[in-house]
Amino acid sequence: MAVDLPAPLPPRPPSVRSGIGYDSHRLVAGRPLILGGQRIPFELGLAGHSDADAVAHALTDALLGAAAAGDIGRLFPDTDPRWKNADSIKLLAAACDHIRQAGFRPVQADVTVIMERPKLAPFISAMIKTLASATGIPVTALSVKAKTNEGMGFIGRGEGIAAIAVATVEAL
Ligand code: MG
Repeated sequence: MAVDLPAPLPPRPPSVRSGIGYDSHRLVAGRPLILGGQRIPFELGLAGHSDADAVAHALTDALLGAAAAGDIGRLFPDTDPRWKNADSIKLLAAACDHIRQAGFRPVQADVTVIMERPKLAPFISAMIKTLASATGIPVTALSVKAKTNEGMGFIGRGEGIAAIAVATVEAL
């Protein structure tokens, strides 16, 4: 028996997309430790061309990935003197402008920082506020968490830190 079904809708691009970002930096003497835009008192800091804010970098790459709009190295090459010691929160905000030009807005993100020392708990809420204001994501939809690596590997030995992020963007 023939069934009278409505015609299928034409395919549409998805209106919500997710992306993943990863970053790591070496801990060295003579550099400030800046994570999520906060200067954290510690005897070592992160080596890098910019301020080496791995939290901001992982989040930037997650948002760019969600929008399929490139990556942080393509937008802000580490061979460009303009980005030497750059404030990575400003780079994150600029990447969000690029994402909006690509037709998306950031709506949600979750970041995990993996490092042995120092403890980040006192700085987490300030990081969330800074990252939320740079991206336009509400503070209630932006999460930052800190973990140790249980003493294992380069992170466990205190040679460096890593950050991983997932983010969601929505079509404008
Ligand atoms: Mg980086």
